[in-house]
Amino acid sequence: MKTTQAVQTTSTNGSAPQSLIEIESLLQEHYALYKGNQDGAVANYIPELAKVEPDEFGMAVATQAGEIVTAGDAKAPFTIQSISKAYTFAMLLDEAGREETYAAVGVQPSGDPFNAITLDARTNRPFNPMVNAGAIAVAGRLRQVLGAGAFDRVLDLFSRAAGRALDVDERVFESEKETGHRNRAIGHLLRAAEVFDVPVDDVLDVYFRQCSIRVTATDLAVMGATLANLGINPITKQDVFGMDAVRDTLSVMFTCGMYDGAGDWATRVGLPAKSGVGGGIIAVVNRQIGIGVFSPRLDEAGNSVRGKLCCIGLADGLGLHAFDATNPGSSFLRGMAKWD
Ligand code: GLU
Repeated sequence: MKTTQAVQTTSTNGSAPQSLIEIESLLQEHYALYKGNQDGAVANYIPELAKVEPDEFGMAVATQAGEIVTAGDAKAPFTIQSISKAYTFAMLLDEAGREETYAAVGVQPSGDPFNAITLDARTNRPFNPMVNAGAIAVAGRLRQVLGAGAFDRVLDLFSRAAGRALDVDERVFESEKETGHRNRAIGHLLRAAEVFDVPVDDVLDVYFRQCSIRVTATDLAVMGATLANLGINPITKQDVFGMDAVRDTLSVMFTCGMYDGAGDWATRVGLPAKSGVGGGIIAVVNRQIGIGVFSPRLDEAGNSVRGKLCCIGLADGLGLHAFDATNPGSSFLRGMAKWD
């Protein structure tokens, strides 16, 4: 991985180019600003998660050109949890196509808690792949399509997106398996609704394992940059996801990625993102950068407190919001229509 400071990236708001040095100094600034913030609480409904070190705090940005800048504990490992949902959704789109994927799960924000044992009454399918019901539906379809090797394929895909071999935190996996009664109930509901036709325990094995994959803030930044870079890992240059899968995944991240805080996030930060109860947040600036943040204390919506503050700071500092007033929009369309 390169960490050269020579590459220039262009700001979305049309102002002067932002150099990596500038991004790095923003990361350092926000790290120092929020390091002492102890608001929120670590997730404790999964017993192993209650044992994490609450003060760890790391940030990373990876660019489409394959450059990485970091601040703080950017190499500290934690479990990916719900951030995995974005990537298994992209995987199912690639493996099974849109028709089969959308026969199993919708793309509507639910307004319900992430672990609600409920389906969309109109479709008898989960509302979207970012809540547990939707992610378990996706895991079920992957298990059905790929057979017993499904999780190995998930781990391999996540590793290619991160650009290094990832592994599973077996303790967190066992802890989730032991205590995940709501998720088991959701699994049975989905099987009864014929969303998948394989044993619920096999499906939950995939789901609990995907949530227990160990990553760092740097890994998340590279995984985000892989989505930003149209599915190609910008460091290894490996083709990881198809373009349709990337487009659909970023769309659902934008509308549903941040639990019950998704609307606030879309308005305040304006980027497709996904958080997990392990304290990670991933955010994507289309065609430009991936952002990874890790800090285990969560707010009431389940999002990392310091992670959210950092993403707001980066979005403001670099003009990243998709609908920023100074965003020049698509010069391609303007040229075609001879606007101006
Ligand atoms: N494995 C966790 C669960 O199913 C993931 C939750 C999350 O990160 O939102 O409860």
